[in-house]
Amino acid sequence: MSDSTAGDRDGTRVVRAGLPEPVKHEPTLPGPVFAAHFHLPGDPTGPYAYGRDENPTWTLLERAIGELEAPGQGDVETLAFGSGMAAISSVLFSQLRAGDAVVLPDDGYQALPLAGQQLEAYGIEVRTAPTGGDAQLELLEGARLLWIESPCNPGLDVCDIRRLAEAAHARGALVAVDNTLATPLGQRPLELGADFAVASGTKQLTGHGDILLGYVAGREGEAMAAVRRWRKIVGAIPGPMEAWLAHRSIATLQLRADRQNATALALAEALSTREDVTGLRYPGLPGDPSHKVAARQMRRFGCVVSFTLATRARADRFLDALRLVDDATSFGGVRSTAERRGRWGGDAVPEGFIRMSVGAEDPEDLVADVMRALDESAG
Ligand SMILES: *Cc1c(COP(=O)(O)O)cnc(C)c1O
Repeated sequence: MSDSTAGDRDGTRVVRAGLPEPVKHEPTLPGPVFAAHFHLPGDPTGPYAYGRDENPTWTLLERAIGELEAPGQGDVETLAFGSGMAAISSVLFSQLRAGDAVVLPDDGYQALPLAGQQLEAYGIEVRTAPTGGDAQLELLEGARLLWIESPCNPGLDVCDIRRLAEAAHARGALVAVDNTLATPLGQRPLELGADFAVASGTKQLTGHGDILLGYVAGREGEAMAAVRRWRKIVGAIPGPMEAWLAHRSIATLQLRADRQNATALALAEALSTREDVTGLRYPGLPGDPSHKVAARQMRRFGCVVSFTLATRARADRFLDALRLVDDATSFGGVRSTAERRGRWGGDAVPEGFIRMSVGAEDPEDLVADVMRALDESAG
């Protein structure tokens, strides 16, 4: 069904995204197609021949994500992957060759430096700079690819995507944006000038903490063809069940994001009144260092709030005292989670740094739980 006619309203768009034309006696969202191979007499022609190349359940999901990342733009192709890292790696490893240079953020997702080390082992020059202050601008000369993560995870700094994309294109570099934290309802990197919108669908996009998924969206052409080839070579594909669950979950994305993000702002406001909380970050908070740029390019500010407590011991006591918030990594789920990020090593954060993901609980309950846990863990 052509849903780009449904207008700009996100709730309407997400419930209809990617649905096929209605067929009498068929479900609205067809169930997952479990097939390693498809019946294929004669010459092997597409679309469905072998399950590592294509699957009808992915096709509908990819259409749905494409309608959110680039509404009304027919020339955008979306590819689903088995995880966010599979999607990220497919862009990095399909676009870069020995002798190329790539600009990465130095404060992005934890596994990005691992990918960087692998790129270096293949003879690719890796340059890094922080997300904030558009610091990656200084490193673009002669680069083949600029990788942006905005807001970056876990520090929640934001960069001016349009400005960086224009500067990168002027120097002949491609631009990829990790859109995991914002989701396509929060930010549309392709409209801001990026060549690739890449994300983990594991987080708020699917929102229930029960599947891993990734995707790459970009304009049809050579670069996306290389990404597709990479998926086929590596076999970095989602299972049909995960793809179907993801599509089903996207129908509630607007409801979840609006609830979670509004509560994240309420929580950030409550935390901002506390003297025992420092380094509070939420891009939607009017006083946040990221807010001005974020407000220009984002339509929603995400469900992640970060802040620092005085010591590691205090942070651990706080996490223990929470009742409505699970001590767990990841973010974006309907149940709130929080963790002391320093326990992983790798992120340049203080020992007492907490990354909190706000779920879909009643805001009063959640804010009260966090305030009580802060009081009980003090002293
Ligand atoms: C989680 C995450 C990833 C990796 O996604 P997986 O689905 O875990 O592979 C990439 N980028 C960001 C910003 C993330 O939060």
